This record gives sequence, structure tokens and C-alpha cells, in this order.
Amino acid sequence: MWGVVIHQARLPVVGHCVLGLISVAISKILLYYKFTPIADPTAVMLWQRALCESLGLTGRILISKHGINGTVGGDIAACKRYARVTKEYPGFKGMEFKWSEGGADDFPRLSVKVRDEIVAFGAADELEVDAHGVVGGGVHLKPEEVNKLVEERGDDVVFFDGRNAMEAEIGRFRGAIVPDVTTTHDFIQEIESGKYDDLKDKPVITYCTGGIRCEILSALMKNRGFNEIYQIDGGIVRYGEKYGNKGLWEGSLYVFDRRMHMEFGTDAKELGHCIHCGTPSNKFEHCGNEDCRELRLMCPDCYDNPETRYCGDPECLNIIHANLHAE
Ligand SMILES: [Zn+2]
Ligand SMILES: [Zn+2]
Repeated sequence: MWGVVIHQARLPVVGHCVLGLISVAISKILLYYKFTPIADPTAVMLWQRALCESLGLTGRILISKHGINGTVGGDIAACKRYARVTKEYPGFKGMEFKWSEGGADDFPRLSVKVRDEIVAFGAADELEVDAHGVVGGGVHLKPEEVNKLVEERGDDVVFFDGRNAMEAEIGRFRGAIVPDVTTTHDFIQEIESGKYDDLKDKPVITYCTGGIRCEILSALMKNRGFNEIYQIDGGIVRYGEKYGNKGLWEGSLYVFDRRMHMEFGTDAKELGHCIHCGTPSNKFEHCGNEDCRELRLMCPDCYDNPETRYCGDPECLNIIHANLHAE
């Protein structure tokens, strides 16, 4: 789908003529990452910031000594130029850009920063990256290779969700293990907890939205004695594009933009349920208590009703009730 922004300006009446001027600008979002050694992250940050500013792009770019992770939006011609120029940096050669609907309006501003990590696992010193990417990660599987491995090894194969547990509430691979993590930072403690030690000699396929989180998670798991680790090239996005709802993926994909979720076709299963009434729902909504704002699955009826627009915590219910009756 194309995000279309129409700028319309009508020129003043000149004599008896009305001149109309219409120009159509098409906007897009680019998503990309690359693990590659960056000797001088600050220099790359300053270059990327100047490049985005000159092209009128907004969004968020993180740069570390291990690579780059970015999402930028803007005019399609500017996005194309951005991708072309960025790939001229030797380390970013061959970087894949995913194109998505949207534009500069989806981001309030431009943020280009140097961080210890491009994904916050709390493993900056453990992660090792060379010119080929993450060192010691899992075996990359294409979507059809995922299915082949499951055909060959059957129930021995374990899917291991590399996202936050909340994301898996509305969609996951069939039979997947969903670790108890609220943020990516929790993964190390989780895989060191002993809970998953029975997986150490099993084929384990890690997966996440677009593949970036599993690049790191796979390496961390291998370092901790998980011997047969795989990761899905391009993540759920690429698998879903290939198999829709006819493969091993079930439900909706949580996405980090205003849509909140997306499906691979209209025949997706609804795995999630409204926390209040149990109706199937794949939409996360914020708690109505402004000090809480926790995201929970709610059906449209319960969300539209001010009495049930809360996260389930009785404390929040008290607060929204008090506010309702104060009005
Ligand atoms: Zn409901
Ligand atoms: Zn709440």
C-alpha cells in the first residue's frame, strides 16, 4: 500500500480564470539494520544525521560499534536516495531495506544516536561482530528451510520466541515457547534460569519480527550451551510473506507503529482475547489511567466503555472510576 499525501493549493482568481495546482507526493518508510564493525560510530552518526536532514527524513537511527538499526520515513525519492547513499559506506554495502507504508508524519522528529547496542540486550561486551555479521550466531534458515526442518525432525523442533511475551499473545509459531520477558533486557536472565536446559540438545528455531533480535539472541544462546540454534532469515515478516496463514505461523504480527498489528491475509486466526470479556481481539489498547498506560488486549466494546478502559489492575480501575465520578 502506498501512503499518499496530496498537497493542494489553489491560486487566486486571475481575470476569469481559476488556476488549480495539484501535486502528489508519495511517502514511504524504510526499515533496515546491519551488523558490521564500525570503527568510529560518532562519525557515522554525524554523517547519517546530515544526510537525513538534507533529505527531509525523520525517524530513529541507532549506531553502535556493532552496526546500524534504523527506521526513517519521508518522500519516496528522498528514501531512495538515502538508501543509495547509505550503501556507499563499505560496511553497509548490500544492506537490505524493507519498504513499508507511511512517511515522515509517522515520526515526530529525527533522532540519530550512538549507543552501546543497536538492540538493548545488555550484551554489548559479549556480542562479537565481523565483516560477515554476528560471530557465532544461529544457522540462518529461509522460510522454506524452516518448513523442511520441521518435516524432517518433527516434534523435536522447538520454536523459541525472541520477542517480548506480550507480542506473542496475538501471534506465534505453532507450539512455540514464549519466554517470560517484558523487554529484550530480560533474555539473558531467562536463558540462564535453567528453565530451558532441556532444549540444549534439541533443534531450536529462534524468531522475531524482522530478524534483528534473533541475530543476537542466537549467539547468546549458543554461548550458553544451546547446541543447535537456528534463526529465520528476515524473521516473521519474510516467513509470513511466503506462507501467509498456510504455514506454521498463526495469528497476527505485533508491529511498532500506529497499526499495532498486521495480518498475512484475511484468514488469520485470532489468538488473543479481550482481558475483560474474553472476546477474540488482536488490538492492544492503553490503560485509561494516564499514570499507567499499560498495553492490554481489549475488544472495541470494552475499550469504548470508559468503565472498562483499564489494564485489569484494580488500582487503575479505582482511579478511572474516581475520575469518571469527579467529572
Ligand atoms: Zn471486551
Ligand atoms: Zn493500568
